[in-house]
Amino acid sequence: LVVLDGVNKHFGELHVLQDIDLTVRQGEVLVVIGPSGSGKSTLCRAINRLETIDTGTIRVDGQEMPAEGRDLARLRADVGMVFQSFNLFAHKTVLDNVTLGPRKVRKVSKAEAEAEALKLLDRVGVKNQAAKLPAQLSGGQQQRVAIARSLAMHPKVMLFDEPTSALDPEMINEVLDVMVGLARDGMTMIVVTHEMGFARKAADRVVFMADGQVVEQATPEEFFTNPRSDRAKDFLSKIL
Ligand code: ATP
Ligand code: MG
Repeated sequence: LVVLDGVNKHFGELHVLQDIDLTVRQGEVLVVIGPSGSGKSTLCRAINRLETIDTGTIRVDGQEMPAEGRDLARLRADVGMVFQSFNLFAHKTVLDNVTLGPRKVRKVSKAEAEAEALKLLDRVGVKNQAAKLPAQLSGGQQQRVAIARSLAMHPKVMLFDEPTSALDPEMINEVLDVMVGLARDGMTMIVVTHEMGFARKAADRVVFMADGQVVEQATPEEFFTNPRSDRAKDFLSKIL
């Protein structure tokens, strides 16, 4: 469903993505881990063209993402993205946050958008917060609204870039539980996270990145019990 082929990207002298080949199948949950600065966020941002790439191709459901233009907005709707900082519209209610995209990009009616938004807010457990502003919600609730907002665009794949790392510990699980639910429902997901419990529970495959390269790919069982590369061993010894 998502195919990266020979993707390279530089920031000046820094070769931040080096010949990345990666395939994510329909319904697959890929967890991306690796040290700080290894290029994980850049990879996510490249997939929905928040970053340009120098060479290579990125295809989502067979279509290459255009660098700009009208098609970009439409194709970007296929790729939902949830960030560490929740990025909700601060002056809009929770309900408006979720309905805005579908009304603008998918051209659905207000009534239809609201009906679906309430279903999605219910699915992530914050339906009773629909009339509030983001600032009136906890971080965990805001992040669940951000997930609902992405889902409202009917994405083919969801990208999560450290979705729980800005949260207080007691709120981490409520967000991870929603993500585990999505994974079980068959959503194709690419998740950058330091939550190894999530990786063990939900990942079909773990991708270990270091210095802009995919160093290792394995099932979570293989990766956590028997990492092959020294860099992965070193990384795991620091975080586990
Ligand atoms: P972290 O775990 O800290 O989030 P990461 O793996 O997500 O790290 P990236 O954010 O992708 O890493 O950054 C990879 C490298 O690219 C880093 O060295 C970073 O400083 C650099 N970088 C990221 N964005 C830019 C930018 N806009 N301009 C220049 N350099 C950048
Ligand atoms: Mg990052």
